[in-house]
Amino acid sequence: MKIPVLPYKGEVFEEVRYAHFLEKTGYTTTPLPMKILSFGACNYSCPYCKRNGYRKEGNYIKDSIWVETGEIAEKVKEHLMHGYVIRLSGGDPCCFGGVAKAIAKYVKRKGGMVSIAHNGSDPEFVQQLIDYTDFWAIDLKSIRPDRFRRITGTGNKSNKYLNNTLMSISLVSWYDIPVEVRTIIFDDTEESELIEIAKFLKSCANPNLYWTLRLYKGQAVGKFKSPELTKVTDMARRIREAYPVLKIGIRKNWNGESGLLTI
Ligand code: SF4
Repeated sequence: MKIPVLPYKGEVFEEVRYAHFLEKTGYTTTPLPMKILSFGACNYSCPYCKRNGYRKEGNYIKDSIWVETGEIAEKVKEHLMHGYVIRLSGGDPCCFGGVAKAIAKYVKRKGGMVSIAHNGSDPEFVQQLIDYTDFWAIDLKSIRPDRFRRITGTGNKSNKYLNNTLMSISLVSWYDIPVEVRTIIFDDTEESELIEIAKFLKSCANPNLYWTLRLYKGQAVGKFKSPELTKVTDMARRIREAYPVLKIGIRKNWNGESGLLTI
């Protein structure tokens, strides 16, 4: 059986990233390296997607490479032997719930660590995987229905997906599982919306929750503009003062830990 996977620099399932938010929450003291498996499908079509999630061929993201699941299984074993966390990402792994669960179960049986990066749209997927995961990243792209619809390109499913996202974050939080909640920030992101999100995240009462404001870097044509770092930092500081229980960071670039500014 083959599944579509997004290559990174021409290679499949070889990208390495570090889960720096875990150090920021005090959950770990050293950076955990993750090997990233990027599934080549997504139920969103965000116009700014770095993985070209809006460019589909049928149900799959254009330029995906079809890979035998046996080959993926071999890579899982190899990465575990070298001490990597297995991160299931995308696109979105919820589009391949069965394969994702099989990998996660295998990794846990072998004593490894599993992390999932999910757009939040599928709390049933979260429920299915939760017992086989160590930490999550979940997107909360907006908490306002109109805006959520615009930036996710999800049309008449957007209300459902927004409600599902709040449920997914709540679910992970009920188990106190470490989660990085990621909000994309554009130049027109309003502080009042971020305050609404802060209230929701506070209500999750998860001591291992870290909220990352991700600065949009300007890949999409026309519609979206990058924000000013100083403006976002000021907003984040005011919110942190009002909600000191929240752990907040700004992802200003993708240069490892130095690109993540803790507020
Ligand atoms: S949810 Fe993520 S992978 Fe899917 S289209 Fe949006 S940015 Fe791309």
